[in-house]
Amino acid sequence: MAVEFRNVQKVSRFLDPRQDFAETKTASEIRFDPLTGRTGRVAHFALPPLTPPDLEEMARLSLERGCPFCPDLLEKVTPMFPSDLIPEGRLHRGEATVIPNLSPYDEHSALTVMSRQHLVRLPDFTLALLTDAFSLSLEYFHRVYQGPPSFPLINWNYFPPSGGSQLHPHLQLFATDTPGNLLLAEIQASERYYREEGRNFWEELVVAEKAEGKRYLGQTGEVSWMVSYVPIGILGDVVAVFPQRSTLAELTPGDLEAFSDGLTRVFRYFHDQGMYSFNLAFYPGRPGEADRFWVHARTVPRFSVQPVLHASDVNTLQYLYDEPVTMIWPEAMAAGLKPYFA
Ligand SMILES: [Zn+2]
Repeated sequence: MAVEFRNVQKVSRFLDPRQDFAETKTASEIRFDPLTGRTGRVAHFALPPLTPPDLEEMARLSLERGCPFCPDLLEKVTPMFPSDLIPEGRLHRGEATVIPNLSPYDEHSALTVMSRQHLVRLPDFTLALLTDAFSLSLEYFHRVYQGPPSFPLINWNYFPPSGGSQLHPHLQLFATDTPGNLLLAEIQASERYYREEGRNFWEELVVAEKAEGKRYLGQTGEVSWMVSYVPIGILGDVVAVFPQRSTLAELTPGDLEAFSDGLTRVFRYFHDQGMYSFNLAFYPGRPGEADRFWVHARTVPRFSVQPVLHASDVNTLQYLYDEPVTMIWPEAMAAGLKPYFA
């Protein structure tokens, strides 16, 4: 069975106080992920206007107790790698620095401090800043991890709604043989697809999204960009697919620059929409399996659904039922994003 965008329509009826209690119908949709079959809902739609907080004021407050990633403290208060792992103690490229994570998630766990500036607003991330940070992160994995095949994971929590506790831009890195439930499910489903169809799901997904044209955004270099058919985030997800690459080690400098280029476009869209926080994750496969799995990255805007009360955009449905809900149509998000890829 080829890539299929399957959904079930639902209609809810009620007497609407906003229309003098006339009966009204509201549509929602349950969607099935074309790879894993996992369900998600496009529903609710009662989004408040997105109003970002005063970022300068947040930056000022966050500096009151000092920031370990700012240049005046970084060398003094952040850890260094043991000399048998990285003799020079920390890695540097451009403005980026890789340091061990004081609170490791796994044996090899590090942070990439991306900039010298404490506050970098979304439109101010340059191609050089992003490319240096991602390529130095890959160098870290290359330098420290010489063991059996594992999954080098790069992820980014930007601003507090995403779970990021330091405003200073930094990536989380760790190499692990336990890559998390979603990535494992994607790898297993891609293997099943390859076994049953004899083809690469990711290649077919790009072709299908291009053909349907509703969520496909365009290409930067060889990297293809699209909005997820079944997003994880309330505001939708942006997915970048790296053709013919099954591991992060296979990404070329050109791939990283192309990805960073696309990301600056996504960031400009987020900023223009009033979005100021996101999660980003890379999803790598196993070495030598580009015939069945392609590296991809997912960027999910995060926000507070009620900023005055600090209400989270993750509720019981997502957290305890593991059921994503998206409050805008992914196709509408794609229509808004597409001009940024022109
Ligand atoms: Zn700082």
